[in-house]
Amino acid sequence: TGKFFVGGNWKCNGTKDSISKLVSDLNNAKLEADVDVVVAPPFVYIDQVKGSITDRIEISAQNSWVGKGGAFTGEISVEQLKDLGCKWVILGHSERRHIIGEKDDFIGKKAAYALSEGLGVIACVGELLEEREAGKTFDVCYQQLKAFADAVPSWDNIVIAYEPVWAIGTGKVATPQQAQEVHVAVRDWLKNNVSAEVASKIRIIYGGSVNGGNCAELAKQEDIDGFLVGGASLKGPEFATIVNSAT
Ligand code: 13P
Repeated sequence: TGKFFVGGNWKCNGTKDSISKLVSDLNNAKLEADVDVVVAPPFVYIDQVKGSITDRIEISAQNSWVGKGGAFTGEISVEQLKDLGCKWVILGHSERRHIIGEKDDFIGKKAAYALSEGLGVIACVGELLEEREAGKTFDVCYQQLKAFADAVPSWDNIVIAYEPVWAIGTGKVATPQQAQEVHVAVRDWLKNNVSAEVASKIRIIYGGSVNGGNCAELAKQEDIDGFLVGGASLKGPEFATIVNSAT
């Protein structure tokens, strides 16, 4: 199912100095050729990163405005992200859903707009701990997938990130079996509700406490096509280990 895809989501971390060090570590790292590698710096450092990082690594934004720019104080438009050299945007991240309060239909509209302007979308889905404990994991993911499906005309430029909320930043990684089970469910949902072709081609990546020590076992799972990495992506050598975990 496509090239292995590893994204580093730097979240709201870093300074000019720490990011300069991280970029230089990434530029010096040996990254396997057959992997798509993307990093998502905070907006304010995208220009610095794009100007100093190897072309081998593509840049993603962590969010985007829902439509064309204009009188939207504090927002960043897709056009501006493209102007800075971004190829991707992360949408529907659990921190935006559950801390900022973004809703399914708003996230779907953002995805449709970003795709229409030529950005790739890293579309995030995932359940809360209480939803898992209530046996609602699949239903929650299906509902979040449906919101994307209702909004986007094509899945060609989308990577799905399954990120169980209880695993994000907690050190409690999903077991390879837990992740694989949900990835299969996501693929089945796409087969039944979008198309068999999209289901077989799309990359479904896992996120939530991925690190240099647990990535290899996860990467062995048939339906894990890569990772979205938070904390461990702030360390260049460890991120390189995760990028290279499939080979
Ligand atoms: P951690 O790797 O820090 O758990 O974060 C995962 C994540 O949210 C990536 O988007």
